[in-house]
Amino acid sequence: MPNIQSLIEELHSKYQSHTEGSPASYIPELAKANPNHFAIVITTISGEIYKIGDTENTFSLQSTSKPFTYGMVLENFGREFVLSKVGVEPTGEAFNSIVELEKQTHRPYNPMINSGAIAVSSLIKGNNFEDRFKKVMSLFETYVGHSLSIDEHVFESEKKTAHRNRSIAHLLRHFDVIDDKIEESLDLYFKQCSILASTRDLSMMAATLANNGIHPVTKKVAVQEKYVGDMLSLMFTCGMYDSSGEWAYSVGIPAKSGVSGGIFGVIPGKMGIAVFSPPIDDKGHSVRGVEVFKDLSHKLNLSIFRVGNNHVS
Ligand code: GLN
Repeated sequence: MPNIQSLIEELHSKYQSHTEGSPASYIPELAKANPNHFAIVITTISGEIYKIGDTENTFSLQSTSKPFTYGMVLENFGREFVLSKVGVEPTGEAFNSIVELEKQTHRPYNPMINSGAIAVSSLIKGNNFEDRFKKVMSLFETYVGHSLSIDEHVFESEKKTAHRNRSIAHLLRHFDVIDDKIEESLDLYFKQCSILASTRDLSMMAATLANNGIHPVTKKVAVQEKYVGDMLSLMFTCGMYDSSGEWAYSVGIPAKSGVSGGIFGVIPGKMGIAVFSPPIDDKGHSVRGVEVFKDLSHKLNLSIFRVGNNHVS
């Protein structure tokens, strides 16, 4: 079995010099990210951590947050109701596509794209915005195992420039997928996208999913076991948007990316992997992140389609 620590060190030095892609700029604040930042962290379900690079540097979670709030609304409302609001089909479209509502039902296709995630945010329970926002924060805090904060600059920057997400939200309101609290749903969505976490945190969140929803260190239940499969299957089919097919082919594990440069992947029953590096490709995925995942999958035989035990016990 390859030594995990030396493998991630090798991949880190292999890809540090890659300069393709650039940090997202459609949210102006994200363009300020340091393109040289690069971190890889693997956390096992028993809480062992292998790490290299800028692992404690924090970044806004962006779309890597989407599976987690989806899990929360599934717990709160059950599958049937949530399925009536958001589907489970991949789109083959970009994450922010406007034409992403199902023809018959007008549901967003899935919760990993913006329309689905905004519909999910509209379902977050609570008496008022503060109450609902607290639920979101405490959810993510349970996944990481410590308190978290928001990058207010990223939040304001996205809120000010989110004409596309705002139009998606109005379309959702038109088709009665979300209620009248359009701006509140959007704010909840932008807030969850602005949560600051490190690569180490993201790998712990992934390891919590790998551990059936139980945090490997605190042992707290972040999500009920019965919904972990819902989250992972949607990450697998839709988590990398219109390159989910290519990802299944070349990496073969459930994963989710975010435009700030994070990607996390889950090896159920084994470990969580997180890679962070701000330069992204035209699909919105970290360029170094995608390369690292391809190599890790190959070297550790992680793909669920490769017969035989993978090289991690
Ligand atoms: N907040 C971002 C948006 O809605 C998240 C997108 C992403 O990370 N792919 O555009």
